[in-house]
Amino acid sequence: MEQRYASVHNLTVAVDHTYYVAADSAAQPVLVHNCDAANAGAPAIKAGSAGGETAGKAFPRSVKNDVLDDDPNVCVYCRMETDRPQVDHVIPRSRGGNAMLDNAQTTCWWCNASKGARDFPVNPPPGYRGMWPPDWWGLFP
Ligand SMILES: [Zn+2]
Repeated sequence: MEQRYASVHNLTVAVDHTYYVAADSAAQPVLVHNCDAANAGAPAIKAGSAGGETAGKAFPRSVKNDVLDDDPNVCVYCRMETDRPQVDHVIPRSRGGNAMLDNAQTTCWWCNASKGARDFPVNPPPGYRGMWPPDWWGLFP
């Protein structure tokens, strides 16, 4: 029995606001907008790290400063701007998350509290619009 497989191109663009796709029939590349603009360049949720020398510890000031230098006010979970940014343990302290930069990310106070010792916040913050959980968490491929 003959089987045929279709070629699937799954374009996932998490960071870049604008990218180009070469079109077969046209000599000109096609400009594609990865909107909406509010999510352009939004910080990615890190994979986190655990079980190192700093496991379960609070972040030192230097790590917090590095995180907030990279991303001063956009929550990685809800992607809304916050005037009360917090530095979240990607892998929670209670599960041995490290107090290092690769386990540290900016969240809003709401998402940080809603997340607690879980992997993701349970409830969306007030004013959030759209599906929850958002598709940028990558939970539903
Ligand atoms: Zn948030």
